[in-house]
Amino acid sequence: MTTSAPAATETVPTTMRAARLHDDGGRIVVRVDTDVAVPDCGRDEVLIKVRRCGLNQVDLLTRSGQTPQAVPLPHISGTEVAGDVVAVGTEVDPGLLGARVVVDPVVACGRCRPCFRGQTNMCRDSLIYGVQTQGGYAEYAVAPARQVLPIPTGLSYDVATAIAVTGPTTWHMLHTRARLRAGETVLVIAAGSGIGTLAAQVARFSGARVVVTVGGEEKVRKARELLPADLVVDHHDPTWPRQVRAFNGGHGADLVFEHVGASTWQGSLAAMARGGRLVTSGGHSGFEVDINLWHLFIKEHTVIGSYAGSRDDFCTILDLVERGIVRPIVQQVFALEEIAHAQRLLEKRRVFGKLLLDPSATPAAPAGGVGSQG
Ligand SMILES: [Zn+2]
Repeated sequence: MTTSAPAATETVPTTMRAARLHDDGGRIVVRVDTDVAVPDCGRDEVLIKVRRCGLNQVDLLTRSGQTPQAVPLPHISGTEVAGDVVAVGTEVDPGLLGARVVVDPVVACGRCRPCFRGQTNMCRDSLIYGVQTQGGYAEYAVAPARQVLPIPTGLSYDVATAIAVTGPTTWHMLHTRARLRAGETVLVIAAGSGIGTLAAQVARFSGARVVVTVGGEEKVRKARELLPADLVVDHHDPTWPRQVRAFNGGHGADLVFEHVGASTWQGSLAAMARGGRLVTSGGHSGFEVDINLWHLFIKEHTVIGSYAGSRDDFCTILDLVERGIVRPIVQQVFALEEIAHAQRLLEKRRVFGKLLLDPSATPAAPAGGVGSQG
């Protein structure tokens, strides 16, 4: 990256606080460093003062070294980023200065056939922001100017951040890939997650009957209170697929929204209607699953893969959020120094909706001993 005097709205410091992954004698730990160089704004990039950064399962995969390619350390995670543009590169429109923006995390090349078709998520040269680039667990972050979208007036940084990954992914799964139709019964697996809470809302908005699974009594209570669900079942109860089928006269779900993987896979298949579809994206509980071919062809099941979302999917969901049709649920906002605790909550699934970071916030507790974990 080159810096040739980018235009700036304010004096940007030379160093910042950032939560970074480090190699600590063979295991990866996350730690807040206070003297990290503020990244240079390349000629086609913008420098963002990060107002909010979302936590995502992919951050846990990165921390545990499970990404397909090793991530060079130290590394700043954070795929879901919203903030203010405080500097722009020499080739970027200075009109962007001061804009409130959210980052489209699929950094596509813009020059290949899938990109020309608008399928930015299918670009073979695409990078995931915050995984294959440095991300937003920091006071400042850079992004290519073409990756930032203006946050509609009236939308908070919280909301923009909370949908940055879950929104396009959900729309892509339910509509672009699985062609959800009004009147269908949609089963949303793990609907207490950030993506699940959104999927239940999008399915309802689309005219579906909505059945959701969550884990444990407290989440069942929250789901009944907060989600537009016609039926809530506890996926810790092994009879849950039967409960789903019984809900609509033994028919089962026309469309299953799956993002958990191995631990819910068999139940998801068992809850499917004859002629049903299962759309899957993600699988943090395990990527290896079994399929009984007899059941697959006798019941004419369709399994659909789905990956992230395109720029068009992102714009669609932003529009729905702006109109108040979809309202992401934010459980809590943390200071950078609380990252270890926040990641632990995500890991242990003690989350209903999204967890966010506010890099300018001061931690609730004294920083001594906080901020590192294995
Ligand atoms: Zn491309």
